[in-house]
Amino acid sequence: MTLTETASENSTTRAAATRATADAGSVAGSTTGTAVPLEEIVRFCDERSRRRAVKDFPGAVNGLQFFKRGPVRKIAAAVDSGLVPFQEAARRGADFLIVHHGLFWNPQQPVTGAVYEKYRVLFDNDIALYSCHLPLDAHQEIGNNALLAVALGLRVERWFLPYEGVPMAALCAGGIARDAFAARLKTLFPRTYTGIEFGSERPEKIAVLTGSGRSVLDALDAEGCDTLVTGELREEHFNMAQEHRWNLYPCGHNATETFGVDALGREAAAKFGLPYEFIETGCPL
Ligand SMILES: [Zn+2]
Repeated sequence: MTLTETASENSTTRAAATRATADAGSVAGSTTGTAVPLEEIVRFCDERSRRRAVKDFPGAVNGLQFFKRGPVRKIAAAVDSGLVPFQEAARRGADFLIVHHGLFWNPQQPVTGAVYEKYRVLFDNDIALYSCHLPLDAHQEIGNNALLAVALGLRVERWFLPYEGVPMAALCAGGIARDAFAARLKTLFPRTYTGIEFGSERPEKIAVLTGSGRSVLDALDAEGCDTLVTGELREEHFNMAQEHRWNLYPCGHNATETFGVDALGREAAAKFGLPYEFIETGCPL
């Protein structure tokens, strides 16, 4: 099987799996009216994501960020805590929304303008917000990096780049022709693929760090790795790629971080027999 075939199969499989869960869940939700206490779903998400075992950036609050009064009837997941994803969750009747980038970061923001509107959508529609950031990057089964490696057909050899003692990035076995690997990435990320190719034509090791890739660049050479799949980089990293002879593939911060919340949402929905949907925003960055 060629890499391209595997990639397209994987993305088709992922979409089909998401649809199947959503369809099956919709049936269960509408016929049985399944309603699950909020705290049961929160407990499941806390344990499955191992959120207490992973320290996050100062100001980030993982776990239940926004309470709801009644039981949960439908789960949704989105990458960002944006007003539009919140409105979309409300429109689709979801009342437990899992996000990767939560509402709270440093510096704190006053509850005015769009921030106020976000709170209002959650209040008015009785939607609970559950945020899981670094725990869903580091998780070695349902984390963004682990699942992106799987989607690319890569085998993780080990984890590196510790943050507060927990490794965040995956170091994968390579031995793949660069052209074939790039084709896989284009299939998986048709809108957001970018290739900056100054490294080897058959990389021996491939690093994966979703979202912002800046923090892993300094560790690449020491790992004997010249190829990185990530979310986003900065302008000066093009020069670094030329100077260090790296292959860099920034394929979208948002696009590379759909995997973890989607997996957690699907698992929670399956566990409690609730319908589930992933809210895609079309973010190209
Ligand atoms: Zn991110």
